[in-house]
Amino acid sequence: MNTHISPTYPALVTSVLNTQDTACLLLDTAGVIVFANDKFAHLSSHHTTALLGTPLTTHCSANDRAALEAIFGAGCAPKDVLPTAATLILPGPDGPALSLGVTPLLGPDGAGLGFLCQAKQDLSTPSPVAEAEAEAAVSHWEVALKSAGLAVWDTGGPDAPYFISDAWFEMRGLKPSAPAEIKDWLDDVHPDDLPQVLGHKRRRDSGQTDNTTVEYRFKHPTRGWIWILSHTRVLGRDDQNRPIRVVGSESDVTQFKDVENQHHAAMRRLRLALEVAELGIWQYCHETKMVLWDDQLLRIYGIEDGQNLRPSSEWTSFIHPDDQEVAAKFAQDCISGISELILDYRIIRPDGAIRYVRSRAQRSFDETEHGLRVIGMSFDVTEDRQKTQDLEVARAAMEYDSRHDALTGLANRRCLDEYHDTMLQQAGDDIAFAVLHMDLDRFKQINDAMGHAAGDAVLCHFAMRLTEIIGDEGLPARVGGDEFVVLLPGTHTQHRLDDIVAQITSAAASPFHFEGQLCHFGISIGIARHHASGDDDTKVATYVNADLALYQAKKTGRNCSCHFEPRMRVEALARRTMADDVSKAIENNEFRCHYQPQFCAQSGKVVGFEALVRWHCPGRGLLSPGAFLPTATANGQAGEVDAWVLRNVLAHQASWAAQGFEVPAVSVNLSQERLMNPRFAQSITALDIPKGQIRFELLETTFLDEGDDHDTLSENIRFLRTAGFELEIDDFGSGHASILGFIKIAPSRLKIDRGLIAPIVASQSQREIVRAIVNIARLSNAEVVAEGIETIDHAQIATKLGCDILQGYGLARPMAEHDVRGFLTKARPAA
Ligand code: C2E
Ligand code: CA
Ligand code: CA
Repeated sequence: MNTHISPTYPALVTSVLNTQDTACLLLDTAGVIVFANDKFAHLSSHHTTALLGTPLTTHCSANDRAALEAIFGAGCAPKDVLPTAATLILPGPDGPALSLGVTPLLGPDGAGLGFLCQAKQDLSTPSPVAEAEAEAAVSHWEVALKSAGLAVWDTGGPDAPYFISDAWFEMRGLKPSAPAEIKDWLDDVHPDDLPQVLGHKRRRDSGQTDNTTVEYRFKHPTRGWIWILSHTRVLGRDDQNRPIRVVGSESDVTQFKDVENQHHAAMRRLRLALEVAELGIWQYCHETKMVLWDDQLLRIYGIEDGQNLRPSSEWTSFIHPDDQEVAAKFAQDCISGISELILDYRIIRPDGAIRYVRSRAQRSFDETEHGLRVIGMSFDVTEDRQKTQDLEVARAAMEYDSRHDALTGLANRRCLDEYHDTMLQQAGDDIAFAVLHMDLDRFKQINDAMGHAAGDAVLCHFAMRLTEIIGDEGLPARVGGDEFVVLLPGTHTQHRLDDIVAQITSAAASPFHFEGQLCHFGISIGIARHHASGDDDTKVATYVNADLALYQAKKTGRNCSCHFEPRMRVEALARRTMADDVSKAIENNEFRCHYQPQFCAQSGKVVGFEALVRWHCPGRGLLSPGAFLPTATANGQAGEVDAWVLRNVLAHQASWAAQGFEVPAVSVNLSQERLMNPRFAQSITALDIPKGQIRFELLETTFLDEGDDHDTLSENIRFLRTAGFELEIDDFGSGHASILGFIKIAPSRLKIDRGLIAPIVASQSQREIVRAIVNIARLSNAEVVAEGIETIDHAQIATKLGCDILQGYGLARPMAEHDVRGFLTKARPAA
């Protein structure tokens, strides 16, 4: 075979190349073929000679030629050339093509020696070109299948080998191998899907079917479970109907499966949501005038025939007659495509039940495919409506409650205000009106003595009577415990108001029985009017005026009414100013204690003093109690004043004792307010008063006023007695004598009011009265103090009548503390 070698190349090279399985050519540096090895000669025996000595480019395709010419071109040394490829078309009719790799060959000095061309394909088979084509065809199919994501297998048959495409392995994450080497892939099929896969195989094998399709999960080494869709087909069977050749194609459908699963899940959720929400779905086709009702919608309408497709006219027959009109409009709006359609309406179900249904609809218009459609959903809102209605009722009830008094059902303050505002809105700001402000008398006693049930009954009874009397002339309201207000819009003559007031007063005065017991109460009424025009008083002022008039009515005496007069406002202002001033006076220590001595009627000796408060008021001078105490009492400040006086007296006594005087006992006045204070005992105890040093004067009237808390009062009196304080009843005989109170208190002394003492000089009968009082006192071993001893005559007569102690200007006037010291010095026995 050496004939093919150029003599310029050493035999070694040629023999090496001849041992190669690959067809090779050697080219010189200009690209001229200088050698073909045995393999090449074997492939193309009769062509080889013709090739030798010719440039390779002359045998190449036009495309390759240009590229190769550039490589082999003049002056281009092989060392500059990179390996390349070319297709060699062998000479002759239908000359086959050979794919060649062209590699430059370099000498030890790096200079180009020529080129080595090696056939890329194995051309060992007798028909290399046909085989190359077949191989190319197979590889084209492989590429096509692969790019389609398809794997194929073929069990082969008598004239075809067993074949499994690489894609089959790749899909499963396996290394391609010969079919015989496949381990049992069924092991990696999901156990849940295995029965199905085997079932299909059985059906093929048994001849039940030639074609099967199955989806199953397969365990991929890295991706976990993948889904494979497999189609198989039996191509031939033997005479016993057993398959002799089966082909299959498979694809990885995991991605589709995921999407499908998501879709299923979404559909399931939607179905569930519709079911839970009890939503009925419907679709109307304008062309056919038919409506598709889903099963839930049929249930809502109580239709049992299961017929889903129904003529549109049928819906109308379910609509409640009163809702026909709105329903018809709704239907029309649906068709005309008004967006966001929603309607609540009543339907009458076949069983006669009336249900509320809410429908929402949307038009969809598809000219080409479906024409005009309306898609809607409907649901039963009967229960919701019921709840809404119940809520509405509850809300209205709450609203009513918030504006009415729970006990009597009368309007409350808020309602009264609203009524007034409405009245003003309707009639304008200058409307005339009158306000009656009322307060029940003796209500507290009824509550205390007969219990709260009786109190409540009295309030309800009075409220009812009030409502009857006022009628629709105005609005009666309960604004506090036992306080009522009546607003009377419009002009009322004083006569008419007096008439109404008289009716109310008589209603309150008429006997009312609760559980067989007579509840005796009364009413005090303050009346104020707002005149239509030219009246500066605001709405609020009228209510304040009525309140001031009520204050006056109460002060005047119970069960009484008073019309407002402007002076009441002045007085109220003065009261308020005074209240502020008294508070400041206590803070600024502006009060003073004056002391009026008390003398033993028999011996003329000083037996004690009465402490009398004075207010050293900056700008007004020294004020006596009459100027400020009634106001302080009305404002609830009397107790504070008393406490101050007591502290002051104790301080003075301590100072007198420190100066070596024999400390006299001092009587201090105790207001009703202080005596009613639940913390009174505690505060007295805290003062730690030396025994016999302080006596307390209690006003006789304290025990007459029935409107007060007798429990605390009685407890405090008991406390004083137990603590060893002497108690005196002050101003005895000035009020309504209360023998009962007197007995209850068991005082150490009775102080006869100076109003009774003053006339004793001139009047025999007055003397008899004083004598009688002295006798009463004797009965309970109480001493008698005569107040208001202004003259020697008074002193003598009072002494004669049996009075034990005398007090009055005629003997000594009340004096300041420093004068008391002088007084005591005189009285002190000379050392
Ligand atoms: P009262 O307790 O009856 O005190 C006696 C009042 O009569 C004193 O008036 C005294 O100055 C006055 N008086 C004494 N002798 C005569 C007299 O011969 N002729 C006349 N016309 N009056 C005489 P005062 O000090 O103005 O006190 C008036 C009332 O003020 C007291 O009457 C007492 O009810 C009350 N009061 C005085 N100080 C206090 C106090 O500290 N606490 C309380 N709660 N009330 C006090
Ligand atoms: Ca007194
Ligand atoms: Ca007195």
